[in-house]
Amino acid sequence: MRVAIVGAGVAGLTAALALQRDGHDVRVLEQASELRTGGFGLNLWANATEPLHRLGVKVPGEPYQRMILRTRGQERARVALPTRGQPHMNGERGALMRAIHDELKPGSVRFGVKVAQAKDLLEAGADLVVAADGVGSQLRPDLSKRQKVSRPWSVWQAVIPSGADLVETGGGAIVMTPKRFYGIWRHPNGELCWFVEEPSLPLDATAEQVLAATLEEDDALVREVARLTPTDRLGQWLARDRRPTRAMVVDRVVAIGDAAHPMLPCIGQGACTSIEDGIALALALRHRTVSDGLDFYRRKRLPVTRVRVATAHFACALRRPSPVATAVVSNPVTAPFAHLAGVWLRLVNRAPGWMIRELAALPAA
Ligand SMILES: Cc1cc2nc3c(=O)[nH]c(=O)nc-3n(C[C@H](O)[C@H](O)[C@H](O)COP(=O)(O)OP(=O)(O)OC[C@H]3O[C@@H](n4cnc5c(N)ncnc54)[C@H](O)[C@@H]3O)c2cc1C
Repeated sequence: MRVAIVGAGVAGLTAALALQRDGHDVRVLEQASELRTGGFGLNLWANATEPLHRLGVKVPGEPYQRMILRTRGQERARVALPTRGQPHMNGERGALMRAIHDELKPGSVRFGVKVAQAKDLLEAGADLVVAADGVGSQLRPDLSKRQKVSRPWSVWQAVIPSGADLVETGGGAIVMTPKRFYGIWRHPNGELCWFVEEPSLPLDATAEQVLAATLEEDDALVREVARLTPTDRLGQWLARDRRPTRAMVVDRVVAIGDAAHPMLPCIGQGACTSIEDGIALALALRHRTVSDGLDFYRRKRLPVTRVRVATAHFACALRRPSPVATAVVSNPVTAPFAHLAGVWLRLVNRAPGWMIRELAALPAA
């Protein structure tokens, strides 16, 4: 089958690799002149690392198996996040994209091509068009539908050259201060990745203001991280979400990744769900015609992606530090309830059963 994929982001590259491994003739068209490797750290839960491993991708980053919760300047709880196969990883977005791209056949991505309409690609002979053109997608089949887009969720992130030792191996730290929610993760080569969400500052705040606010926190760990952060390493990412629709598939055009279901980052599933999409698409098209395969894909992906978008939206409400959450985590009697967050995260971040079964049946690449 001839497949044209629009967009060489995480979704488009993963779909290309999975479809290529199944013998399809795949071409990725990317408007930029090279891979857009910008961005900061991405959390990759095992629902992404396990299938990527099966495709032969060596996922870059630092593995983690637990989260350490801190409030009022102290460690309060340790939440275990065990996996059956590959570990969860935190790594740089650019490194992940390069790792997937390196597994594609040479020349699979054509750079500097901005696609205007899916129908042009179908007329040029593609049997299937995959719109993987990101949150601002102009190619998704449901473009004409009026959909509510959330207001932007501000995340300030940095990957800094030192500081990995501030977090123990295999762990990631979550710090709730009276006004803010921080995440701090080890990266390879002694680097450290951290973020602060909705920092109780205006959307147009500067990196200097965010660092100044962080340096006044009640937690020594975040103060130290801020001290180690060069201002030019701290950048803002404005995330938005949109509910996926049935029209993610129309005729021979399918939207995947952020084009189909941009989500807020509060369960760390934006990139993971995009990776799942790419692999699910290839699995759906195995032993099926294009139209049956796309129908199967929609039936399987619509409920999962709707749940993830809604859960991430809901989780953002919880991520605003509240006196109640802080009191629960800070009290030794109620702190064990924090483990429920781990159980909940494990449930939400599991790959769908049909994918696990089909992937398990495949020989590892
Ligand atoms: C530059 C950048 C930085 C990011 N930084 C972070 C981050 O720090 N943390 C985080 O959690 N998430 C980040 N994200 C988002 C995260 O990568 C995505 O949410 C997730 O990986 C889903 O990816 P995607 O492939 O669906 O979309 P994207 O990663 O957005 O990729 C879409 C691709 O399609 C291309 N494209 C768009 N329109 C056309 C067209 N008409 N013709 C051809 N090509 C087109 C774009 O140039 C882009 O390369 C970033 C995204 C980008 C683009």
